Amino acid sequence: MESSRDNYNELVSQDKKLMKYIKALEENEEVKQYKKLLKKREDLLKSIKYAYNGILKEKYINCNHVWAILDEKTLKKEGNSQNYCICVKCGLDESVVYKKAKCDNAIVLSDKEKLMYEVLKSGEHKKGIYINISSNRDLIKAVYDYLKALCPNMSDEELRERFQNEIDNLADIKGEPSKEREAAKRLNVNVSLLRK
Ligand SMILES: [Zn+2]
Repeated sequence: MESSRDNYNELVSQDKKLMKYIKALEENEEVKQYKKLLKKREDLLKSIKYAYNGILKEKYINCNHVWAILDEKTLKKEGNSQNYCICVKCGLDESVVYKKAKCDNAIVLSDKEKLMYEVLKSGEHKKGIYINISSNRDLIKAVYDYLKALCPNMSDEELRERFQNEIDNLADIKGEPSKEREAAKRLNVNVSLLRK
């Protein structure tokens, strides 16, 4: 019967053979070229990400914001007691400042949130108009996407008015399942989002 030692020795010997093949392949010019290209691509992807972040930051800085208030439920769930706004157009989210303070560590912020934090901290975002409504992030985004597709060229004032009407309307139909389903279909969201 094969002993544990024999089994071990056999496996080590197999590994040695494998390493010999791998080493030989590493000396191959095509393999060398392949590894070089992989490294080049890795660097390129980093640059692409950096360039994309630049675009995103410009978007946050240059947007004439249309602010909506994050609803109490959302804020409470995230341990917030203060009111925060989110721009329905670019998604700049003031609650990121709170998130940063709570963690006191930028590592837990996503790359996007870190960018938001930089813009919010610089104070370059304090402009635009306010919609007098509060809602959760997903619904705010869904309503904006819906309205934007419906009237791509609307002015900010028009957006504010339509947004307000849409959210008011959603509040009115709350608790009426068939109307909720209809609205969810129109906004392309799960009906549960309207019942939050
Ligand atoms: Zn904005």
